Amino acid sequence: MRNRDVAEMLDRAARILALRGENRYRLRAYKKAARAVAGLDESIEVLIQENRLQDLEGIGPALAAKIKEIVMTGKLAMLERLETAELPLVPTNRSILLAAALTFCADFLPTLEELPGVKQAQVTGLVRRRQETVSSLEFVLAVSSIEQAQKALAAVPQLHQQQWQGNMCTAVHAYGVEITLYLTAAETFIQELWQTTGSAQHVRKVAALIKDKSGYDLLAAAAGKPQHSFASEAEIYALAELPEIVPELREDRGEVEAAQAGQLPRLIEAADYKGDLHVHTNWSDGTASIEKMAAAAAELGYEYLAITDHSQSLKVAHGLSPDRLKEQIAFIHSLQNKYNLRIFAGIEADILDDGSVDAPDEVLAQLDIVVASVHSGFKQSREKITRRICRALQNPYVHILGHATGRLLGKRDPYEVNMGEVLRTAAAAGTALEINSSPDRLDISDQVARQAKAAGAAVAVNTDAHSQLELSNVSLGLAMARRGWLEKADVLNTYAAQDLLTVLHNKNKQRR
Ligand SMILES: [Zn+2]
Ligand SMILES: [Zn+2]
Repeated sequence: MRNRDVAEMLDRAARILALRGENRYRLRAYKKAARAVAGLDESIEVLIQENRLQDLEGIGPALAAKIKEIVMTGKLAMLERLETAELPLVPTNRSILLAAALTFCADFLPTLEELPGVKQAQVTGLVRRRQETVSSLEFVLAVSSIEQAQKALAAVPQLHQQQWQGNMCTAVHAYGVEITLYLTAAETFIQELWQTTGSAQHVRKVAALIKDKSGYDLLAAAAGKPQHSFASEAEIYALAELPEIVPELREDRGEVEAAQAGQLPRLIEAADYKGDLHVHTNWSDGTASIEKMAAAAAELGYEYLAITDHSQSLKVAHGLSPDRLKEQIAFIHSLQNKYNLRIFAGIEADILDDGSVDAPDEVLAQLDIVVASVHSGFKQSREKITRRICRALQNPYVHILGHATGRLLGKRDPYEVNMGEVLRTAAAAGTALEINSSPDRLDISDQVARQAKAAGAAVAVNTDAHSQLELSNVSLGLAMARRGWLEKADVLNTYAAQDLLTVLHNKNKQRR
């Protein structure tokens, strides 16, 4: 078994434990173990043979046994037991992180698809719209007979407390999460999917337009006999004389009016993304070497990757002193032609208490890219923290403000900051704001990203990965960018390497 597969399974375990509301330390242990295994330079199988698993940071006897089990059997019995276990003693109506929701849905969808009488199943609702947290996981099922499907669902051991309301079933999955299933005939599948995806206001607005333009009452038809069987959601929008509006925008935040005016944004796509500008390595608190991170990024087809380890004042993260940083810059330069991508030398510098940046200008000047972030003083007054951040934004060497509000979803509120002032200052100084793609950050949020664009500030979508495994979290950040109406040109990571450097270094010139 490859290290990556083991790491992915540990990561998946962490997400499932999170769904069950398990204790935070247990989750953290699994996440740390996933990072440790992903970053390894040798095969995990060798470590097991030589009994060296517990030499890894954060891996005690219990986790070592779990890792052995994964390598030997290809699975974790613990996860399978959870599937059929009694319900956890935690409230089920809590917010689930998008990343965990997506993992769950991908895992659970095949169970639904394979039920007798189910022809098709798809994720709908808030998860399909990629909202940052969700309370219920919703699916639409096309079935040949409702009765048959009801019977089949009643026999699914993971689905407790099934309650029916017409063709809608709510249940609690053994992981402790609320599930909603909408059953419908194959002919009405697309309409049901459409109606359950958009916000109620979006659906009502489009349905009213359809009635207006074609006289067809879509919502009444849903309850009675539909005259239309749609082959795609685009056909529904066509009845309203609109171009198709993608799920991420169906919030009634002006998208219907924009569609009418022919001004829907052409949202950024995964294929536009050329490289990550904020990752850590084992030079600070990451687990993988620079070489491993570069190889993984090249494998993803990236054109560049910026190495941005922590600066010296972040002692818990083994932040780099100016001398170590210079050493790292030289090392990165020595690697330059070894990988099929450009490696940028960078730093994630702490924004210190007075708004200065935690590295001397002389070293900052040698870097391709500087991300500056607040990692302390979260409880400061709104005035102080805003002033501090704005001063960093105006620093000629700072290119990107990392995780601007410091929030940890479900754990820590954003700090008090005057975001309007931050955005205006960023736009004026030519400093970008980051959408940090860590599953529990997603910071800045979709809404703030949209405000950033309106204010004229650029956005960078970064993962803040601490191992290669987390590079793939970029899909979450891109989802936030799309929900924030961002187009390709709004996001720094879509620029070709040389254009990016030109933009970044123009800032330095302007300010000096
Ligand atoms: Zn940070
Ligand atoms: Zn970071």
